[in-house]
Amino acid sequence: MNIILLGPPGAGKGTQARHLVETRGMVQLSTGDMLREAKDSGTEMGNRVSDVMAKGELVTDEIVIGLIREKLEHGAEGGFIFDGFPRTLAQADALGALLETTGNILDAVIEMEVDDTALVERITARSTCGGCGEVYNDKTKPIPADGRCTNCGKENDFKRRADDNEESLKTRLMEYYKKTSPLIGYYYAKGQLTKINGLGEIENVQAAISDVLAVAKSNS
Ligand code: ADP
Ligand code: ZN
Repeated sequence: MNIILLGPPGAGKGTQARHLVETRGMVQLSTGDMLREAKDSGTEMGNRVSDVMAKGELVTDEIVIGLIREKLEHGAEGGFIFDGFPRTLAQADALGALLETTGNILDAVIEMEVDDTALVERITARSTCGGCGEVYNDKTKPIPADGRCTNCGKENDFKRRADDNEESLKTRLMEYYKKTSPLIGYYYAKGQLTKINGLGEIENVQAAISDVLAVAKSNS
């Protein structure tokens, strides 16, 4: 089963993708994570995209399509979760072609709906564990008082993203509405889109995604 999680920054795509990886053995393909890794390890491409990412703008289609192409060549038994890709119509077309040539199909596109106020609140309060990627939130899920990650136990290794500030977030939201939100219509027209409410408790969102996957499975 291959799915796309679609939604604005802060909609909870990464959190849900992690859950699907743990419970269903799917493989998460997050272009944002791949780009951050390239940046952190100081590759030539990483250096090139670092400013663009910090500002909240999109990196070129060519770069992200290249990253995804490499991963698809290896295949994944549990299926792929596309998280933060595609983000433009050109990327969506490229993904369609890549899936076809690698003998994969797209089973569902899940749009996670969240209002903008919630996004700003979530993102400006967010930090993640450097050990395992567990996401914390200053208000709803604060870092434990003893400084140890509840998931992996690592001590005092919590990071905030360079682009998780109000200024970059404005740009990220604008990029989303201008360039990514047309994908909602694109996949709707293909009969592949299902909208879910991304505002509920994490468990409720998980349940909504499970329902979509069950329907997609019965249709396949
Ligand atoms: P978000 O929390 O905004 O969903 P991501 O981790 O998915 O963040 O992406 C972070 C940044 O990486 C984006 O703002 C953009 O600069 C770059 N990026 C990630 N995926 C893509 C993509 N598919 N196309 C273009 N740029 C991307
Ligand atoms: Zn951890």
